[in-house]
Order: sequence, then structure tokens, then C-alpha cells
Amino acid sequence: MKNYKLLTPGPLTTTDTVKQQMLFDHCTWDDDYKKITLEIRDKLLALAHVSEPEYTVVLMQGSGTFGVESVITSTVGNDEKLLIAANGSYGRRMADIAEHAGITYRLYEVNYNEIPDAGRIAEILKEDPEITHVSMVHSETTSGILNDIASVTKVVKAAGKTMIVDAMSSFGGVDIPVGELGIDFIISSANKCIQGVPGFSFIICKKDALMASKGKARSLSLDLYDQWETMQADGKWRFTSPTHVVLAFAQALKEMEEEGGIPARNKRYTENNHLLTKRLRALGFETYVGDEYQGPIITTFFYPADKNYTFQEMYQYIKERGYAIYPGKVTDAETFRIGNIGEIYEEDINKVCDIIEEFVRIKRAAA
Ligand SMILES: *Cc1c(COP(=O)(O)O)cnc(C)c1O
Repeated sequence: MKNYKLLTPGPLTTTDTVKQQMLFDHCTWDDDYKKITLEIRDKLLALAHVSEPEYTVVLMQGSGTFGVESVITSTVGNDEKLLIAANGSYGRRMADIAEHAGITYRLYEVNYNEIPDAGRIAEILKEDPEITHVSMVHSETTSGILNDIASVTKVVKAAGKTMIVDAMSSFGGVDIPVGELGIDFIISSANKCIQGVPGFSFIICKKDALMASKGKARSLSLDLYDQWETMQADGKWRFTSPTHVVLAFAQALKEMEEEGGIPARNKRYTENNHLLTKRLRALGFETYVGDEYQGPIITTFFYPADKNYTFQEMYQYIKERGYAIYPGKVTDAETFRIGNIGEIYEEDINKVCDIIEEFVRIKRAAA
């Protein structure tokens, strides 16, 4: 079997011990299994610096988008309006979700290398009093930019609105004081910074906001309140749960604690990012996002102007040598992306930079 490490932000490279947990076929109705679900939920609350009864957690089957769709379609009522602040394709996806569900929304969009402005959001909330909910992505994985959820949540809560954050690629890798900020719904998934495998998302909910959503859901399987009600009783999932993924996730949470929790993970990812940026800049690759907004999760690089190779060629060369990188996703420039999250250390970053250096040298010599 040909193996390589993923420098892509989810799915990402996991430990063998996380993968080994999936060799067991667990039964879903016995107490052991329900206890695992309850423990996972407790640990997620702790990572968000919140606790019952002010906050609670819902685990939702499916990839991360299912979690975002669950929140948007379960919490914004028919007579309510959502403001979406977007600077990348995951922000736009929220508008797509609202569009599909027939939810009234307004899109406030800025360039992909700029962040949504809290002052502008405060103005929009003033001029458009019909808005009841605001949603925004924290780490826009499209570019790697880190949005200012603290300032935005502050103006949203001051205006008395509900705040929804897609922290898919940042939760666990960037510390978020969810309770202190007063975020109402924050969404992430199993296969990002917690370093589990794909299969479910999780939503940390302010309890009163969740209670207010009862009966609003437009979808049966993505009904956030119903999912919570069943799970809250004794840890049972409403429909078949991804058992192997849940076991792997419980192990991933344990390994995260052993590493030193969010601070240790943030430090490792940040160091990966700094080393990667320093080495690739030395080879002539410029970053798409300015240093002031760059997050630690993933970095977008422009192709150098003098290139005589395609992304596919470079991707193949790197993959044959043990690493998978990502094509670019921003729409206004030719780019590629490299993620720093997962079981990735300084040694990996140095190795992939050595491989890119070698590739560039061969190509420049041939030019
Ligand atoms: C990964 C990710 C998602 C979810 O994507 P899925 O492919 O559905 O898992 C949503 N938002 C952001 C910011 C992400 O990075």
C-alpha cells in the first residue's frame, strides 16, 4: 500500500492509535457506547470553556456542511432573517444553504484576502432591523484567513441578535472563549483540529438559543433540537451513529489532552505555518493572505510569475515523495494551498519544503 501524509485540512493525517480504534464493531444501544458519546460531549464543552446548563452539545452525522446546514435550517425561522458575512467559499456555502431552504438572508461579502468588518456589520444591523441571526466563518479554509469573531460577536450580541460561527477548521487549533464571547452556535467537525476521521460534526449551543429553535427545523434528519433532545436523555444518537468514527474521535480527544490541549496544538500549528511560510518565501512563493490576517491552519501561496510547470505536475512530484497538498480555491488568482494541521510536525514541513525546493530547481534549470 502506497502511503502519504495529508497536508490538507480535513481529512487530515491521523495517528495509528486513532485509526486502530476503528477495528472494533461497537453496538449502539449498550451503556458503554452511550457513555462514550456523553464523555465526548463533556470534553467538547470544556474545550469551548463553557458548561451546562448555559451551554450544551449536539453531535450530528455527516460532514461539516451537514452541521452548518443543521444550524442554519433549524434556528432561523420562517419570519426571521439571516445576515451572512462572507470572505470565502465556506461563507458563500452558507448563502447556498439558505437559498436551498428558502431562508430570507442578506449577504455581506468582502474580498477573500480581507476580513468582514465589525463596524460595517453593526451598521447593517441598524439599517436592517429584520435581521435576527448573523453567521460567519472563523478560519476561512478557502484562503487560510482568520476572521475576527470576537469583534463581530460583540456587535451582534450588543444588537440582541443570534450569533452563528462556523469554526470548522479552527476549533481545537485556535482557542475560542465561546461563553465569554456569547456565541450562540459554534460548529466544527471530527476531522479537523481534533484530528479524528470524517463522519460527524458537532455544535456547541447556547441552551436558550437552542430551546428557541424548537419546531423551526425544515429537515427531519438535520433537526438540531430533535437530535439534542434524544442525545440529552442518555447519550443515544437519534439515527444510526458513525460508531467507528465516534470511537476514533474519543481516542483523538484523549491524545489531544496528552499533547497539552489547545495551547500545545495552536503552538505546533503556528510553528508549522511560520516555518512553511519562511521557507517557501525564500523560494519565491508569496502568500495570498497578509501576515496580519493569516491563521495557523492553512496557507495559500501564489504561483511564482516565472513558473514553467502546472499545479498537477508539482502535486504529483510531491505526492510521489510522500505528501499530498491542495489546489487553490480563491477565485481571483492562481494559487495552491498547504495545510499545517493533523499529525504534522516541523520535520514534515522541512521535508515538503525540501521536495518543493528540489522541484523548483529542476524546473528552473529546464527553463
Ligand atoms: C471543512 C470545512 C467545512 C465543512 O466541509 P465538509 O466538506 O462538509 O466537511 C465548513 N467550513 C469550513 C470553514 C471548513 O474548513
